[in-house]
Amino acid sequence: MIKYFVPKSLKEATEILSQNDCYILAGGTDLMVQKHRSASLLPTFEKDVLFTNEIKELDYIKVDKEGVHVGSVTKYEKMLKSAQIPDIFRKTIEQIASPGIRNMATMAGNIGNASPAGDTLVPLNVFDAYLVLSSTRGERKVLVSDYIIGVRKTIREKDEIIKEIVIPNLDLEFDYEKVGSRKAESISKVSFLGAYKLEGNIIKDFRVAFGSVSIKVVRDKEVEKKYIGLTKEEFINRKEEIVSDYSKLISPITDHRSTKEYRQKVACNLLSRFIDNIK
Ligand SMILES: Cc1cc2nc3c(=O)[nH]c(=O)nc-3n(C[C@H](O)[C@H](O)[C@H](O)COP(=O)(O)OP(=O)(O)OC[C@H]3O[C@@H](n4cnc5c(N)ncnc54)[C@H](O)[C@@H]3O)c2cc1C
Repeated sequence: MIKYFVPKSLKEATEILSQNDCYILAGGTDLMVQKHRSASLLPTFEKDVLFTNEIKELDYIKVDKEGVHVGSVTKYEKMLKSAQIPDIFRKTIEQIASPGIRNMATMAGNIGNASPAGDTLVPLNVFDAYLVLSSTRGERKVLVSDYIIGVRKTIREKDEIIKEIVIPNLDLEFDYEKVGSRKAESISKVSFLGAYKLEGNIIKDFRVAFGSVSIKVVRDKEVEKKYIGLTKEEFINRKEEIVSDYSKLISPITDHRSTKEYRQKVACNLLSRFIDNIK
């Protein structure tokens, strides 16, 4: 017999998770779709379900010296309306689904779903954002890039819940692009975020991440290091080498949304355009 839990506090939730193997359900906009059987039937769960929606203490956006803390039940629409959320995250979120879905869905759910096409995962990687995982055993911090280890695979232990996501402060110039079939309700075929900081004529910081072109977001700090410290002209002159480096890192697949050749080409074009636009 499947049990449904609706805890009202984080403490209550972690106690339930310490004794029961549960699906954690936030907005349900991924999980309900995955458990859907047919139009006339309710979704079926083969193990217990813990709903997070009533854990009001996790519905927050706070700022401190570490960065912006987003509680795991905070909906996208609340993030969109908050001036505390970095602009590039709001730009990403406003291209996710539609207002109806964004009033249900959470960034914790986007991370927990661990899809290669999860749109917030791209800026979360570029910002080196991390999660605070909570259980009755205590708390631990994990980078989002380490939390996701494959398609729908994370390192979450059964008794853990994402308490919050922490987005560190980052003062860079950004170029984000999501390529989908249409303007709204579109899952990414490719997504791209390039970021840089120029001090005088020197590239002081350079970060690039791609979504939907591998089993998880592609970001490579070793490649980035190669180009940090160059002058702007040297950087732009090495465009072909930069594009070639990333071209080797991405390994898109062909699926119902797009072909691997299209994804590879578009990803390289977006990177190339980002480099051309560095001012
Ligand atoms: C019509 C439609 C359009 C969509 N468009 C987009 C889009 O453009 N871009 C995009 O990226 N996604 C899109 N999605 C997918 C989905 O809306 C997002 O991934 C959303 O962020 C999921 O959030 P949720 O709260 O609904 O997650 P849920 O479905 O509740 O959960 C998703 C996963 O996260 C886990 N989880 C949730 N909360 C926690 C927690 N606190 N601790 C640990 N694990 C947790 C769950 O166990 C589950 O595995 C779309 C979905 C629909 C139905």
